[in-house]
Amino acid sequence: MVRAELSTVPDNRPQIVAILTPSGSDGAVAKRMLEREGLTARVCRDVTEVNHYIDSGVGVAVIAEEALNRAARDAIIAALDQQPPWSDLPIVLLLAEGELSDAIMPGVAELAMRGNVTLLERPVRVATLVTTLRSALRARARQYDVRDSIAERIAAAEFLREAREEAESANRAKMEFLAMMSHELRTPLNAIGGYSQLIELGVHGPINDAQRSAIGRIRSSEAHLLGLIEDVLNFAKIEAGRVTFDLKPILVEELVTGVDVLVEPQMREKGIAYTREVAPRVCALADVEKARQVLLNLLSNSVKFTPIEGRISVGFAARDDEVDICITDNGIGIPVEKLAAIFEPFVQVKRAYTSTHGGTGLGLAISRDLARAMGGELTVRSVIESGSTFTFTLPRAKAPETLATE
Ligand code: ADP
Repeated sequence: MVRAELSTVPDNRPQIVAILTPSGSDGAVAKRMLEREGLTARVCRDVTEVNHYIDSGVGVAVIAEEALNRAARDAIIAALDQQPPWSDLPIVLLLAEGELSDAIMPGVAELAMRGNVTLLERPVRVATLVTTLRSALRARARQYDVRDSIAERIAAAEFLREAREEAESANRAKMEFLAMMSHELRTPLNAIGGYSQLIELGVHGPINDAQRSAIGRIRSSEAHLLGLIEDVLNFAKIEAGRVTFDLKPILVEELVTGVDVLVEPQMREKGIAYTREVAPRVCALADVEKARQVLLNLLSNSVKFTPIEGRISVGFAARDDEVDICITDNGIGIPVEKLAAIFEPFVQVKRAYTSTHGGTGLGLAISRDLARAMGGELTVRSVIESGSTFTFTLPRAKAPETLATE
């Protein structure tokens, strides 16, 4: 369950005018006057009460200079320093007559420098004071908007963090389950394989042709299941980050040479024309075994999904920092809406087709994980009924190309 709520933003937006005057009666007069103008005012008995408003939220503070002795000024500056970064409380200081034209008292000047202070010289016209207070309140409201959007962003980030953690933990649980289940399935499957082999060898007495053919089916089903379990185990291990990579520079040509020979018999059986471009003498940085696993999967898929007498070719492209190995076929192609999905685990475009051609739907998911873990990528372009090109990209090795053989 994601606990953080997006609506944790506080909704208090204090629009109060806090008044501090030397005598309570002056304050009361000012309060009545402001309230007649539609403003909400509170008279503070002393600076402690002003600070209480600064802490708990206030729109603007109006302070008469006479109420601002040294201790009061220091206490207000200390309270302002404690404000959160978004807050810059507007303070209106009412000065004695003539003071603005003369030098400002040092105490007032210091507060004016440290805070968001407006100086008004008395006598102040009501309209001037009210207009000043209204614009101070508007500015303060904008500060509260900033506070709210900061709080919203923090809440959203927290929400995302928790959601990500939950998804990761669910994924880990799924992978652990897959790894455990695959492991548990392998043991009885090996027993099925072993005992059927014994029967096939006649260890338990002679068998007739019908029995031999039934055992053949048991064994090929067992092999299929074992392949599936291997794939699931591999995938679970890669996803859980439990696979280590031994990256070293290798000529791209070397990567392909070890692999295409493995699929040659199937290609020959289907009469497929296979061509391989001359590879540029560049090195990729790769774990040789894992890169070959990716290439074998891509080439096997091409053979699987290309009809009899089709064509398969391997090409290369080298850039400053990357090298591509492209496997192109003129097979059945992949519908555009499935191009992204085929890299997801257990996704097959046509189950009926693949069930007769084998496969688990894990090959491309594993291959893309392997490619990315080596700092590369696996992408596809395809046109339905015309063919597909899978591009396996690897980082280009910085090592001198001449040294780079396996
Ligand atoms: P599998 O081959 O075991 O089904 P993969 O993950 O390797 O699983 O491939 C997923 C699916 O992508 C395949 O079932 C197929 O539908 C599609 N596919 C992969 N390669 C090709 C290809 N060269 N041509 C057409 N379809 C392909």
